[in-house]
Amino acid sequence: MIGSKIPRYVLVILGLGIAVAAVMLSWFYGLYTWLTAEIASTSPAQHEALVGTSFRWIAGGSLLALVVGLGIIVLIVRRQSDRIHDLRIQAEKLRDADFGEPLLQTQADALGRLAGVFNDMRDRLKNTTISRDYVDRILSGMNEAIIVTSTDGTIKRINRATAILLGFEENELLGTSINDIVDKTKSDTLIEDAVSGVPRETFFASKFGESVPVSYTCSVVDGESIESSDRIYAAQNITERRRAEQRIRYLARIDALTKVPNRMQFQHLLQRAIARARRANQPLCLFYIDVDHFKEINDTFGHLAGDATLETVAERLNAALPDHSVIGRLAGDEFAVVVTGLGPGGKGRSETDKLARSLLDRLADPFFVQGHEVFMTASMGIAYYPKDAPNVIDLIRNADAALYSSKKAGGNVFAYYAPQMNEAAVERLMTKSKLKRAFERDELLVHYQPKYNIETGEVFGAEALVRWELPERGLILPSDFIPIAEDSNLIIEIGEWVLDKVCEDFRVWQRSASSPGRVSVNLSLKQLRQPNFTNRIGAIMRSHEVSPTSLELEITESTMMENPERTIKLLDQLYALGLHLAIDDFGTGYSSLSALQQFPISTLKIDKSFVRDVASDPDDATIVGTIVQMGHNLKLDVVAEGVENEDQLNFLQQLDCTYVQGLLFGEPMSSDNYLELLLAQADGTDSYRALFG
Ligand code: C2E
Ligand code: MG
Ligand code: MG
Repeated sequence: MIGSKIPRYVLVILGLGIAVAAVMLSWFYGLYTWLTAEIASTSPAQHEALVGTSFRWIAGGSLLALVVGLGIIVLIVRRQSDRIHDLRIQAEKLRDADFGEPLLQTQADALGRLAGVFNDMRDRLKNTTISRDYVDRILSGMNEAIIVTSTDGTIKRINRATAILLGFEENELLGTSINDIVDKTKSDTLIEDAVSGVPRETFFASKFGESVPVSYTCSVVDGESIESSDRIYAAQNITERRRAEQRIRYLARIDALTKVPNRMQFQHLLQRAIARARRANQPLCLFYIDVDHFKEINDTFGHLAGDATLETVAERLNAALPDHSVIGRLAGDEFAVVVTGLGPGGKGRSETDKLARSLLDRLADPFFVQGHEVFMTASMGIAYYPKDAPNVIDLIRNADAALYSSKKAGGNVFAYYAPQMNEAAVERLMTKSKLKRAFERDELLVHYQPKYNIETGEVFGAEALVRWELPERGLILPSDFIPIAEDSNLIIEIGEWVLDKVCEDFRVWQRSASSPGRVSVNLSLKQLRQPNFTNRIGAIMRSHEVSPTSLELEITESTMMENPERTIKLLDQLYALGLHLAIDDFGTGYSSLSALQQFPISTLKIDKSFVRDVASDPDDATIVGTIVQMGHNLKLDVVAEGVENEDQLNFLQQLDCTYVQGLLFGEPMSSDNYLELLLAQADGTDSYRALFG
């Protein structure tokens, strides 16, 4: 090592000094002897002896000088080659990323400067290697699959998670195109993908031919221009989430007991059948079926027998109906069937007669439940599209009116719809005009259902729920009149009135209680579709001096997905005002958090139909668990609605759900009672806190 031989140098210099002194001495002594021979020799013999001595000293000194000179040359050459050797070793070490010790720089000559450059290089390489290794460790520690590509999509780098996700080794993917790992049967190429931080979804194809659904973002290497820079794809496997979403969607559309579409899905399918029939200019027939005296079966043989009866109905209808018919369970013991191509004219009517009779006969066959022979009959109402009604709602309603008439005839018969049967529709009309009058007469009220923090049992706010107080009938719940209001523009007026009332109540609470919490208000699609909606809401809140951050708007999934692009813009405006936004009744609609991720939402409300059996039905427990988990992953607050007993509460506590609301904590209450609750809570005298343990 250059310079590590300092003692040797000292020795060398010392040796050199001694050698030079010895040479000088011998030359001086030779010269002195020669001068003595010339000047002071007394005899030729003495002269000769002195000259001989002088010559030997001078020759010896010269020889010594020669030897020392040669020695110095050898030393210098050896030393330089040692330094060059050291430089080479250092270069080899740097090549192998061995950063050991720096070279010692003892001299300022060319080799010394070269050593300086090497040291510099070593320091820089060491730093970059340390940060590169650190980045490598970060990348391989990440759970997300990271794929770096050039602008044209050529894969330049992947991390360990990518290799695990796709089953490929890194070297199998490097140099290939990112499009080679996209499952082209299910998704488009990724190369044209605009760079954006918004998560999107696609399918990757693994080495083993599996299609892997992923959620990914695409960004560019920092500080470079989008056109020319490398892209970073960060992807996450969302198989589990998809599965959960599918399961939720299935359960939300299919009746769990009979495995036929539920009311919502049936209406949807009927809507599609009507659209097809309209295009093909064909009729369509709707059978509305209701089991006669179902309550008696339930009461006599128990609920299990009741369930078995309903399953039997669905099975028998399935077996007896022509292909492509659609069956749905609309409620309790009510089923409906759509048969396409069957009309009221020509042979159609006699075919309908035949089918209706054969269905009723088939249903009337006795069957056994737990050793008991059960006799069941059913009644049926029939209506045709387009003769009896042009749309889903009216067609179902008219078939229902016909069913009512066959029930009145004693059951086990069918009846065709006739306009005079439709007393129910008249009743509905009456209710609409009654509702309008009630609204004008100020007969609507707002009640509040508190939401509790599941951890502390503190009231976190409330949901405003509208009620209609009919003098002769008492309180009417929204499910009985909101649909009627939604049929007309009355819902817009009612909605604004509710918000106004909530703001008014909020100000009253604020005067007495330090924090009334966050109050949520339900919105319907028609309200959201109003032009100027944001301004109108803003104006109401301003007029009461209520901060938008104190309020939350609840919107159902189906409302959001009705026109997503438009809704996103609108919700962005509302969010910008400071309002909180919640998805209501999650699970009963589209049920895709991936799709809902685009909306500026902060709260997810799990529909009460899933909460009902959460402590007893493993399917519901899984669904609720998955929704809570997905909600947390997306940093949303999760509210479970419809908590009625402590088992449900305990279960939700284990799941780490954020808030709960439900009848376990009492009926929705008046504004005054809500204020009392807030005050009791502030005093520590509220009665529900104990439930939270
Ligand atoms: P929602 O927004 O899902 O409201 C929750 C409903 O669940 C309320 O019914 C509430 O009373 C009920 N509920 C609460 N806890 C329990 C429980 O433990 N068990 C059961 N079985 N039910 C519980 P409500 O008040 O009948 O409201 C029904 C729906 O009407 C609401 O559903 C909401 O969609 C709509 N609605 C209510 N008020 C308004 C309003 O002001 N405007 C609009 N557009 N819709 C409203
Ligand atoms: Mg709600
Ligand atoms: Mg709800």
